[in-house]
Amino acid sequence: MIRKKILVTGGAGFVGSQLCERLLLDGHEVVCLDNYFTGQKANIVHLMDNPYFELIRHDVTMPFFIEVDEIYNLACPASPIHYQYNAIKTIKTSVMGAINMLGLAKRIKAKILQASTSEVYGDPQVHPQVESYWGHVNPIGERSCYDEGKRSAETLFVNYHKQNNVRIKIIRIFNTYGPKMHPHDGRVVSNFIMQALQNEDITIYGDGQQTRSFQYVDDLIEGMIRMMASREDFTGPVNIGNPNEFTILELANKIIEITNSSSKIIRMPLPSDDPMQRQPDITLAKKELGWEPKIQLEEGLIKTIAYFDSLIKS
Ligand code: NAD
Ligand code: UDP
Repeated sequence: MIRKKILVTGGAGFVGSQLCERLLLDGHEVVCLDNYFTGQKANIVHLMDNPYFELIRHDVTMPFFIEVDEIYNLACPASPIHYQYNAIKTIKTSVMGAINMLGLAKRIKAKILQASTSEVYGDPQVHPQVESYWGHVNPIGERSCYDEGKRSAETLFVNYHKQNNVRIKIIRIFNTYGPKMHPHDGRVVSNFIMQALQNEDITIYGDGQQTRSFQYVDDLIEGMIRMMASREDFTGPVNIGNPNEFTILELANKIIEITNSSSKIIRMPLPSDDPMQRQPDITLAKKELGWEPKIQLEEGLIKTIAYFDSLIKS
């Protein structure tokens, strides 16, 4: 095995911290870069004693220089509450972050993977979503700082590849959950689990008939690693998600059932431009990466609930 030096931006976040852990386990040297906007040191503190792990506080909107073989570009808040908190900063993080990391990849001839999102499909009119679908995004809506930021980042990636031969990989991640999500992250799985475990009201936005397809984090990490290692001329974008689709009401009921909670379901207003449906078509990932998700919702929820339960008790 060749030990690679790998940069993970957003490495102290939910997905990034688990990616750092996996890359170290695979025998690589990992540099984790984060500005701690939504990430936390607690996610990576257990890695600090590892001599092959390095932590750098840095904001990707500023240039950064290092010598590495591969870059995973994850830096960007992912929860609607957090990415809408400072919309201008969110779009700067996506666009300037992509420019800085692609410039670095070009200079040092590193391979670079972009953590794009199912949000590039917006409120989709094609279902399930295939990579060839261009999406249905409101360019001036509440979610646009994130959606259009990620769409611009994809454009930058593709053009650095075409113009400068940068070796790129783009994955479009669908709703992912699991241990290490911030308990107050604001996304639906962590909200519902925290509420159910504390017997608080479960907050459903709208009528709960909107759908999402939930992927357990271990499946995502495996997909990311396979994409980075895929054949040189496969750049993506490729969907990485679990095609099993649920309504938000079904999710709430499942979490209440597993936690044996006495929580009541309450209705709150649906945020604007909230997508009505979302389900990945993963034919391409299966063909190119030999990848498909292994962990289904109930099994993943049980592991995630155990994590939040221990967090509350500690
Ligand atoms: P997260 O919020 O837990 O992690 C994002 C990390 O990026 C945090 O550690 C944060 O502090 C860091 N960050 C934010 N702005 C930064 C900046 N300007 N400079 C340096 N670091 C910065 O979110 P996550 O769920 O781990 O998502 C990771 C990536 O995957 C994001 O790019 C997100 O858009 C993408 N993604 C995630 C999902 C999902 O369901 N989890 C779905 C689609 C796409
Ligand atoms: N949602 C909800 N209650 C919550 C948090 C979210 O009903 O406490 C809904 C939200 O309106 C959306 C879905 O759950 O329809 C998924 O929301 P999340 O923020 O997790 O991700 P995204 O909308 O980006 O897919």
